[in-house]
Amino acid sequence: MAARAPRSLIRPLVQQLHAYVPGEQPKIPGLIKLNTNENPYPPSPKVLAAVKAAVDGRLRLYPNPTASALREKLAKLHGFASENIIVGNGSDELLALATRTFVEPSSKLATGGSTVQFFSPSYSLYPVLAEIAGALTKAVPLNSDFSLPALSALPKLGWDFKAALSLITTPNAPSGRGFSTAELDALCAKSKGIVVLDEAYVDFARENAMALALKHPHVLVSRTFSKAYSLCFQRIGYFVGHADLIAALDKMRDSYNVNGLGQVAALATLDDLPHYRRNFRRIIATRDLVTAELTGLGWAVLPSQTNFILAKPPLFPAEEWLAKLRAMKLLVRWFKYPAVRDYLRITIGSEAEMKTFVRTARTLAK
Ligand SMILES: *Cc1c(COP(=O)(O)O)cnc(C)c1O
Repeated sequence: MAARAPRSLIRPLVQQLHAYVPGEQPKIPGLIKLNTNENPYPPSPKVLAAVKAAVDGRLRLYPNPTASALREKLAKLHGFASENIIVGNGSDELLALATRTFVEPSSKLATGGSTVQFFSPSYSLYPVLAEIAGALTKAVPLNSDFSLPALSALPKLGWDFKAALSLITTPNAPSGRGFSTAELDALCAKSKGIVVLDEAYVDFARENAMALALKHPHVLVSRTFSKAYSLCFQRIGYFVGHADLIAALDKMRDSYNVNGLGQVAALATLDDLPHYRRNFRRIIATRDLVTAELTGLGWAVLPSQTNFILAKPPLFPAEEWLAKLRAMKLLVRWFKYPAVRDYLRITIGSEAEMKTFVRTARTLAK
């Protein structure tokens, strides 16, 4: 390669940026992959057939620029209008779009820019998005059991009800803990800025907060086909909210942000929801079984409303467990930051995979 490109060509913000670190996607034969909360079961046969049937000469054409058929179907499903829905290249794209639409960078403004805030621990993409947006960033600690602090305690902890953008994962990751809709409603009611309720895992939960997206004109609910609908590969997520907010986001997005095969896959998914509801029940049953079995082996497993568990292993540190499990071809996720460094985050795999996991955990503890 040629000599290095001059650093000065790259914006200072980008030079200093701490990029998001996604979970590994290693190609190790026989590896059981429990590190990125993917669904262990494939998309339904009908979805696979629909995608295969769409792979022909039409790939030369641009896809529908507004994902209109998908938005209409989603609108029907949730009881909103299609003006209340924007589809993205995964919900990650929409989260980034929200920072571009609602957040003013601080560096260029004498008056100071906007604040982006979120709870800690939660989705580790949020601080990266805030940094990219040049926002003032606030990471506000959850209670030590990962519950939401009382509304009255939030300002003392640094939560700013006037923040331009608040990002809340519910149920939360990596804790797996669900927040009640009543609690979220109260928090939204007090907030002056935009609140995004990121419900990436909500299909595995008891409650959802979708109703808040139309109750409050400043609240957006984020959903994705990635986790519950086995479509990470296709990158389809959506926001639901007030038509004015959706129109603002729509101005900022790329013209063809949602790829054609993704639209086909998501539409076929919505035509086969009973299949997926069986899938959720199966994963929830496996989750509850693994929770009981690991608890029996001395692990401290937090109650989960998601397709993963956060669990504190016994006998040796979590980081050591990570390595020992990996040597046995079981890949889980460990986060270095203080609130969760004693825990492993374990995606719920198939029944067979989780049987192997529990058996291995038992063996390693001997
Ligand atoms: C996985 C995940 C997402 C990203 O979903 P995509 O639709 O695949 O981009 C968003 N938020 C949280 C909390 C997640 O865990």
